[in-house]
Amino acid sequence: MEKTLVILKPSAIERGLVGQILTRFQQKGLTIVGMKMMQLDEKLLREHYAHLVDRAFFPWLLASMMATPVIVLCLKGRDAVRVVRLMTGATNGREALPGTIRGDFSLSGQENIVHASSSLEDAEVELKRFFADGEIYDWVPQSTPFLYAPDEA
Ligand code: UDP
Ligand code: MG
Repeated sequence: MEKTLVILKPSAIERGLVGQILTRFQQKGLTIVGMKMMQLDEKLLREHYAHLVDRAFFPWLLASMMATPVIVLCLKGRDAVRVVRLMTGATNGREALPGTIRGDFSLSGQENIVHASSSLEDAEVELKRFFADGEIYDWVPQSTPFLYAPDEA
């Protein structure tokens, strides 16, 4: 089973959307195997958004991501990385399709509610970045046979 990182960004925290977003992932059948609140700092964000540090908007992104504590999630499921990206929608909330988290809750390219790992390789690196050993719980839900065929689980 794949694992992926989701961050409920300050735009989700400040707007009181945490419950609705968690509900969406749980309704889909994804398993929460890690979850905690944390205050991000500049050092960690410069690593996490290394591909964006030279962009003119980076100082705004830094301030935005440090504006409140965030909630980090590790979600587990078959093809979890791709499924969660599909549920997240396009980066800019104005382009994200209705039915996606960004499409339903955001009008912004910056204040776009969630981060989700974009590949399996990124997910592995990002989970190590945000979770310490022992903070991800590899439990198997009793509902597994009702979520997957035997060759899917
Ligand atoms: N971002 C921004 N302006 C941009 C592009 C990105 O503020 O023009 C922010 C936005 O919050 C986005 C994050 O930087 O979610 C990471 O950008 P990336 O291109 O990795 O998009 P994502 O993977 O989040 O869809
Ligand atoms: Mg990205």
